[in-house]
Amino acid sequence: MADTTTTLKFAQSLSRLGTESAFVVLARAGQLAAEGRDIINLGIGQPDFSTPDHIVEAGIKALRDGHHGYTPANGIPALREAVAADLNRRHGVEVNPDHVVVVPGGKPTMFFAVMMFGEAGAEIMYPNPGFPIYESVIKYSGATAVPYALEEKNGFAFSAEDVLSKITERTRLIIINSPANPTGGVTPKEEIDKLVKGLLDHPHVALMSDEIYSQMLYGGREHVSLLQYPEIRDRLIMLDGWSKTYAMTGWRLGYAVWPEAAVDHVTRLCINDHSCVNAATQYAGLAALTGPQDAVRDMVAQFDKRREAIVGLLNDLPGVRCADAGGAFYAFPNIEGTGLTSMEAQNRFLDEAGVATVAGTSFGAWGEGYLRFSYANSLENIEEAISRIAKLL
Ligand code: PLP
Repeated sequence: MADTTTTLKFAQSLSRLGTESAFVVLARAGQLAAEGRDIINLGIGQPDFSTPDHIVEAGIKALRDGHHGYTPANGIPALREAVAADLNRRHGVEVNPDHVVVVPGGKPTMFFAVMMFGEAGAEIMYPNPGFPIYESVIKYSGATAVPYALEEKNGFAFSAEDVLSKITERTRLIIINSPANPTGGVTPKEEIDKLVKGLLDHPHVALMSDEIYSQMLYGGREHVSLLQYPEIRDRLIMLDGWSKTYAMTGWRLGYAVWPEAAVDHVTRLCINDHSCVNAATQYAGLAALTGPQDAVRDMVAQFDKRREAIVGLLNDLPGVRCADAGGAFYAFPNIEGTGLTSMEAQNRFLDEAGVATVAGTSFGAWGEGYLRFSYANSLENIEEAISRIAKLL
């Protein structure tokens, strides 16, 4: 009989593709909970709030109204116009709706941006510790992934001087992210000014600014959008979306403002990849931008209270020190004093205390010695979680 054993030959590039470990922790936490363990999940990077009712209703209405077909690949015009109006309201900038491309979440923009610039011989810079998909996709593209450090001593802000010093002739794209995942760090305006000024000496370098947490800043901090710098508009990709701001992670809706020269390229990538975002989700997104914003304000106010609580509680733990987290919904304490590595702490806190967190090393090698706590959970659960960890330590 003929040998029917399959001998599939997967592409080499797959060996360079990483992952997002938060999803692995989520699966493990879910498994332990299914076994009857009482698990508090501080590992997950999504708001613990529901999508506001009026947004859900708009999605349902869109389905009832018969919006069942394809939409333009770059998004329905009314939604792109609403994005431009929202950016004008929030950042005081003029955006051409034709430069807005709506995609299924925040991630497709980073994937497309990296694929557009990345290939063997090219260099792309990314923050470390940072959102793990940056490094993963850069390597997948065949480009060299060049990390720059986000350091605790700088409040996890990037240093413009450091970033600029790493630019070479091969650099094609720099990725920045403020407020940042996993550190909660917010880069101050002076540093962003310096970066933009320095970039003018390097006209071959594009910039992707991931501003998905642009509405989550605390302690009087204000978001600085890279859109506010007209001198780099022709090379800026500004990523934002609905996932975090409107508690819509599962809807899959995001957008970016692209430089004019890249709009056709990204639109073709959309056509090749997903055709368009599902129509009902786009109508929900339109209601989110044009409707009342009080749910956003309330959610951010809750996050702020939890942030104060968790930073204080973490600083009281033996061997732990936690910087003031200025944005997003993450605290990123230094745990070196506990004698545990990041991965040991992640595993022991989950297995022995029933608290899910994510090891700093899941966000790049320079995350060793840190642990990410998401405070997208109730104050009660946060207090209980830290008290369990205190007992364990
Ligand atoms: N950018 C950053 C910095 C994030 O933390 C995340 C999600 O955690 C995303 C982008 C992706 O968001 P989305 O779920 O909309 O793809």
